[in-house]
Amino acid sequence: MRSRFKPWAADLLDTHPEIVIPDPEQQKGNWHEVFGNSYPLHIEAGTGKGRFIIGMAKANPDINYIGIELFDSVIVTALETILEEEDGVPNLRLLKVNAKKIDDYFEKGEVDRLYLNFSDPWPKTRHAKRRLTHESFLKLYETVLPKKGEIHFKTDNRKLFEYSLMSISNYGMLLKEVSLDLHDNEPEWNIMTEYEEKFSKKGQPIYRLEAQFLAE
Ligand code: SAM
Repeated sequence: MRSRFKPWAADLLDTHPEIVIPDPEQQKGNWHEVFGNSYPLHIEAGTGKGRFIIGMAKANPDINYIGIELFDSVIVTALETILEEEDGVPNLRLLKVNAKKIDDYFEKGEVDRLYLNFSDPWPKTRHAKRRLTHESFLKLYETVLPKKGEIHFKTDNRKLFEYSLMSISNYGMLLKEVSLDLHDNEPEWNIMTEYEEKFSKKGQPIYRLEAQFLAE
């Protein structure tokens, strides 16, 4: 996600440790205590400016959410949006970390569902390992999700979607839902991401899948 360099972002993120958790490794296995309840935990890897995860958290107060994003200049917009909410968004936290280390932050089975939305496509074959649906990432997700945990993925990028269908089925996961045009008959539960709004406004189809790990 392109965003202007914001030299003040790191300071603002540091000023809100109650939302942007500064030491997520220390919370591994402890997230229910961070939220102060035992609701399920859903996370989004590559949360960008947070439109989706904030919308989900507001729509589903009985689910806890964590948005994971690499860049200060991007995640700071999610923080600003949360701060603008009169009562905050109590069931949402943000982590400014790399998704490739999620097993440092969550115990096996601690995450009930993982969302990937409009993940960077990394079109060059030599960069395939960086795609968030590459086998190595699926292996990682399996270490934090429960036995029948699910991944929900949306993208505008047909090639990334085709690659992901292959990668997920080769991994032995069950494809529960596949849509080649989510907005043709948009489900009322759908919450749009920033990229989704941008691409669907241009008339581009949005691809979506739900995949489930299979219990051994
Ligand atoms: N999900 C948002 C949306 O749909 O509007 C943002 C999509 S943007 C194309 C992808 C985002 O994923 C970027 O903000 C990028 O910094 C973030 N990202 C990419 N790889 C990541 C990683 N390994 N860990 C955390 N965030 C990552």
